Amino acid sequence: MGVHHQIIVVGSGLSGLRAALEAKKNGLDVAIISRVQPVRSHSIAAQGGINAALGNASEDSTNSHAFDTVKGSDFLADQDAVEVMTQEAPGIVYEMEHWGTPFSRTKDGKIAQRPFGGAAFPRTCYATDITGHALLHTMCERSVYEGIKVYEESLLLSVVRSDNSVCGIITLNIKTGEIESFSADSVIIATGGYGRIYGNSTNAIINTGSGMAFPYMTASVPLKDLEFVQFHPTTLYGTNILMTEGARGEGGYLRNKNGDRFMKNYTPNVMELAPRDIVARSIQTEINEGRGFDNAYVHLDLTHLGREKIAERLPGIRDICIYFAGLDPVEKPIPIQPGQHYSMGGIACNKDCETEVSGLYAAGESACVSVHGGNRLGGNSLLDTIVFGKRAGHYAAIYLKSKPKKDCTTAIDAELKRVKAKVNALENSTGKENPSKIRSELKAMMVTNAGVFRDKAKLEAGVVKIKELKERYKTIHLLSKSKKFNLDLLRNLELEGKLVLAEVILKGALMREESRGSHFRTDFPTRDDAKFLKHTIAYHTEDGPKLEYRDVNISKFTPEARKY
Ligand SMILES: Cc1cc2nc3c(=O)[nH]c(=O)nc-3n(C[C@H](O)[C@H](O)[C@H](O)COP(=O)(O)OP(=O)(O)OC[C@H]3O[C@@H](n4cnc5c(N)ncnc54)[C@H](O)[C@@H]3O)c2cc1C
Repeated sequence: MGVHHQIIVVGSGLSGLRAALEAKKNGLDVAIISRVQPVRSHSIAAQGGINAALGNASEDSTNSHAFDTVKGSDFLADQDAVEVMTQEAPGIVYEMEHWGTPFSRTKDGKIAQRPFGGAAFPRTCYATDITGHALLHTMCERSVYEGIKVYEESLLLSVVRSDNSVCGIITLNIKTGEIESFSADSVIIATGGYGRIYGNSTNAIINTGSGMAFPYMTASVPLKDLEFVQFHPTTLYGTNILMTEGARGEGGYLRNKNGDRFMKNYTPNVMELAPRDIVARSIQTEINEGRGFDNAYVHLDLTHLGREKIAERLPGIRDICIYFAGLDPVEKPIPIQPGQHYSMGGIACNKDCETEVSGLYAAGESACVSVHGGNRLGGNSLLDTIVFGKRAGHYAAIYLKSKPKKDCTTAIDAELKRVKAKVNALENSTGKENPSKIRSELKAMMVTNAGVFRDKAKLEAGVVKIKELKERYKTIHLLSKSKKFNLDLLRNLELEGKLVLAEVILKGALMREESRGSHFRTDFPTRDDAKFLKHTIAYHTEDGPKLEYRDVNISKFTPEARKY
């Protein structure tokens, strides 16, 4: 029955590593399965920072952090989970500092904090503009020190369950091409986002969402709030590489083709420091109404910040502009446009990271706890990964102590056989369809039909398109027959998951006849708390998602109109 570990964590980004460290601290046998070597996980790309109410730049409080997060979420976040995240934030940042993260400092030596959109005070702790790099290396070093076992180049294909509890997982060993099984008493999913379903994404190409899609398809784990897709306002025109929110936090301006700082017409009190959903819509409106450049982009202007400040606070952004756009932001404004950036939705779980399947936990961007609701504030995701990664490891360890022993051999062997047959069929496929066409049509459709602005007609057309693409997927052929490192096989296994997730996004958005956070319907432009102050829960069926709705946890903060 393959290898056994007490706890298997899938994913070696910040959330997966933190979960594994916590499980290990509890004396358990824990191993990580990851598609890539840990420091190649997408957490490495995070630029701007991590939020915690340390009060180093001005007054602040965890209550203020909680309120800003709930308001930023357009009141869809679960307030019990937000309380946990914001209260644990200072301790999490100090722990990372003690483990070695080189945070930028104030003149008197405290951890420096910069303003981010939607925050009442400068609350975002940072390491210049490579915060994710600094945090992930720290976390990796810690996990090497603790001797955490990592199975690299291994792709999760299936989560095995028997009755209502988890038994283990089935994977593709990318190095050998073998399909393998791992049994475990508990499994933690920490596989990051699905950005690459969209054509204009800030995400790495490994962010395909397969770690959400396969548990949903194989173990019937429901997904929550997938229609809430974050579009970052400032991605580099042409490549969609992120230009961190820290650039606006440090004083950058947004200008249209007339040179106007147009945010004065949308959020005059906070200008460029409104939350991301609002700034992204404002930029897209400028472009749509003919005030952008080439009907495609506006400018992020840092030239007034000066060479010294850019060198000190935004050196990575300057390098990216020089290498990828051939311009120096010290001298010239940066062409930017909104791009897909983050998945607010994910595997449905509660504040203890428990899913509906006993022993199966989720954390980080692949999970929906939910602390971001309809719109995530910048700096809250790195925090989410570490706080809830730690909690997932903790609660999985507690689960193990009370878990009755169960024999999973039959369930695992049956699923191993099924997955082997499926992969074998794909390897030997001879259909006419070129899968890369399906992939690029999917990406283009998602930008047009489920992008910054949505409506019934576009979403319905998107659902029809998905059905067509799913049919065509059944007749694809692989270009490579290699066993070792067959990236063609891997990408096309993941393509099935992408189609399934895209359908959940489209259907959830179609049913949500209101506008809330990142989900803006031009045909229903207002928020409708009477009908939709609810989470969307999607269950997998062969005919597409079955949607249900679940109440939001409201405690301290009564929903109110969201004004900035
Ligand atoms: C460019 C960019 C900049 C950002 N900047 C910030 C910022 O400044 N502040 C902030 O708060 N947030 C930021 N974010 C968001 C934040 O970085 C991510 O949400 C967060 O790092 C996700 O961490 P994670 O641990 O959930 O997943 P990841 O770091 O994405 O790791 C996922 C892991 O899962 C593995 N995996 C995936 N699928 C499978 C599979 N099927 N089988 C096996 N393994 C699998 C991968 O190998 C990887 O190890 C940024 C995001 C981007 C894209």
